[in-house]
Amino acid sequence: MLKGQELTPFRKQLLAWFRQFQRDLPWRRTRDPYRVWLSEIMLQQTRVAVVIPYYERFLERFPTVHALAAASEKEVLRLWSGLGYYSRARYLQKAAQQIVAQHGGEFPSRLEDVRALPGIGAYTAAAILSIAFEEKHAVLDGNVARVLARLGTTRGDLRSSGRWQELQECADAYLDTKSPGEWNQAMMELGATVCTPKSPQCLLCPVAQFCEGRKLGIAELLPEKRKKRATVEIHLAAAVFADEDGRTLLLPPPEERNTEPLVDYVPTLASNLWHFPTIPVAGDAVAKLRTHLRRLQVQNQNGNLNFIAADKVRHTVTHRAITVEPFRISVKKLPRIKGAERVPLSEITVLPVSNLTRKVARAALSASSSAKNR
Ligand code: SF4
Repeated sequence: MLKGQELTPFRKQLLAWFRQFQRDLPWRRTRDPYRVWLSEIMLQQTRVAVVIPYYERFLERFPTVHALAAASEKEVLRLWSGLGYYSRARYLQKAAQQIVAQHGGEFPSRLEDVRALPGIGAYTAAAILSIAFEEKHAVLDGNVARVLARLGTTRGDLRSSGRWQELQECADAYLDTKSPGEWNQAMMELGATVCTPKSPQCLLCPVAQFCEGRKLGIAELLPEKRKKRATVEIHLAAAVFADEDGRTLLLPPPEERNTEPLVDYVPTLASNLWHFPTIPVAGDAVAKLRTHLRRLQVQNQNGNLNFIAADKVRHTVTHRAITVEPFRISVKKLPRIKGAERVPLSEITVLPVSNLTRKVARAALSASSSAKNR
């Protein structure tokens, strides 16, 4: 770990670099804690370029904590549609409601109050408090951990609790307490743009002279690889109705309807959002779907239903590799399913849906009439 005399030039060089080269990002133009919080939540597991339009749209609709707290969950999820990890949006809104109920709509500035909000862990609390309130808390996320591991040649699994604790102590020791917000952003920026996972650009690095990993020629080997979790293969089939006006049927998230245990499995994979009637399959997918539709008590006035197989959809969520077989079912009149909503098949995002459901809709739309009828 860097000590004493080294710390001052280390901090000075990193901050000078950040002031000159930082990316111009919308959430860097404000210190409003609500906006900083929103950006930090959206940026979890998600790339900056993906987040920017979502961030802007979300703030246009919910410019304040009060506006977010008062909205329906359905609308919040709709604006989050496509960004993934939907529990983030649910917690965000629950936290907004808590801020209104317990803090009069003002984002709290005490660590214990911030940590008491749903969906806010140690990293997010440190980021909001340092950036919005200049509180002296050092952030530690994957990017910062990688930079620290290379600077100090930390070996082993960084996510093990002992290593993570050591890295947090290191981040705390390096924190520039005169500018904690700027410092934290500089560390994150270095990890995101220079000290990147695969090929760190040590020649451009403002703190290269302090880096043990570079001196020993092992920067690229750090952090050491963690054991990968085995991938679980999941096979599903989805029923995509389409009437003559191009409308389809989506089922609501499970908490909005009474589902049988068998059926709950699928919305969990579709992030508990609106989804097509879907069922896990092994073997004859159409037979399984027909049984499933009967269980959903579909009231169909179209006679025998023709299932047209569309291209398979593949989707990966953490360690799960999901394959969906979509079947387009063209009908004169959409059948009735309790709780289902009718939406245009080409515009299912009028409801909150997952990326997986969007892919299924796209596949069903392009299912040609030459495809196999079953
Ligand atoms: S010198 Fe290279 S490895 Fe070390 S912190 Fe800079 S970019 Fe990362």
